[in-house]
Amino acid sequence: MTPEQIAEKADALYHDLDLGRVKQFRDEHPGAKVIGYLPIYAPREVVDAAGMLPVGITGGRGQIEIIRGDAYFQSYICQIPRSTIELALSGRFQLIDGFLFPSTCDVIRNLSGMWRVLFPEKYVRYVDVPQNFDPKVGGKFFRGELGHLRDDLAKLGGRPVTDDDLRRSIVKYNENRSAVSDLFALRNAAPWRALALESYLVLFAGNVLPVEEHTTLIRDYIAAVNASDRPMRDNARVVTIGSFCEQPPLGLIKTLEMAGCYIVWDDMTLSKRWLTQEISTEGDPLTAIAEAFLTHSHSNAVLYEPRREKGDALMDIVRRTKAEGVVFAAPSFCDPALLEQPMLTEALDREQIPWTAFKYSENLGQFQVIREQAGTFADSIKLWSPA
Ligand code: SF4
Repeated sequence: MTPEQIAEKADALYHDLDLGRVKQFRDEHPGAKVIGYLPIYAPREVVDAAGMLPVGITGGRGQIEIIRGDAYFQSYICQIPRSTIELALSGRFQLIDGFLFPSTCDVIRNLSGMWRVLFPEKYVRYVDVPQNFDPKVGGKFFRGELGHLRDDLAKLGGRPVTDDDLRRSIVKYNENRSAVSDLFALRNAAPWRALALESYLVLFAGNVLPVEEHTTLIRDYIAAVNASDRPMRDNARVVTIGSFCEQPPLGLIKTLEMAGCYIVWDDMTLSKRWLTQEISTEGDPLTAIAEAFLTHSHSNAVLYEPRREKGDALMDIVRRTKAEGVVFAAPSFCDPALLEQPMLTEALDREQIPWTAFKYSENLGQFQVIREQAGTFADSIKLWSPA
């Protein structure tokens, strides 16, 4: 298959708000449960080990009119909780038996409470992650949380979840992480061949595909890109940051590429890339997952990072990817992304890395202003960058 054909397949999954692929999973695995998870971090290994399909809940992707969802929220918060409620009230999550609400921000936390009230028949768990990175404190706490989740899922699924089940799932997700990392390496080496929009769709497909199938899709895409011949353009290499939760519309990613930006790194679909290294398959598997969270979590706005200055991780990425500029693309009213931004821009200013910033919502439909802004940014890099 060509890269375009693989992206087309992923695009169909992206646009299917009715979760046809989840229905297929249920048909192929009678009695198996499906667990949805909100952004960002969820221990998908534990869900998979219980024989269940973890499904990423990513909002309405601009494809659903918000009518009832607005009634549940004040006007000055982001879009994703509204469209998520709208999807649920329209019956599109009927195939999902339970939901994990990670401790991403107050909005997701409050959504978990609403869920308990609105859908009392569904399993709901708030996934609290550690704020203390001492293994004896935060690690022990998180190991306990993971144990509760494992026991809950065992009860829901009607069978025990063994350490061997967990180790098998850890191996599968390690393979997936390795494939994701290879895709990012390819994008970095040849962004004119592994296009940002296609790569995004391929990663996004991991929200509904079983993990082994998703790994195969990524590997197939990498092979197809390597076999393709696409023209190199004189675009600016940029990192985009801030899109880790509510996802930007596809038109926005396309607009950035068309405006002359090669996106060599981004934090979209961060839930598929939260851990930067493999989880150990030695010893107690839940302890291994907890330790991986403490030691290998990707730096991001919702992670408590006592050991590093905000901005250090971004500068590492900029250097590693040889990016010429940074584009802050954050959802409107996203407190974590927008509160972090001044600390990140300060770090960039210190190193004289050019940056630009704009906000979006998942249902944004007009991209002309962003196209002009991004185009001017890319041109200014090409004209005046010292590189
Ligand atoms: S977009 Fe930002 S504010 Fe909204 S739910 Fe996500 S992290 Fe929270």
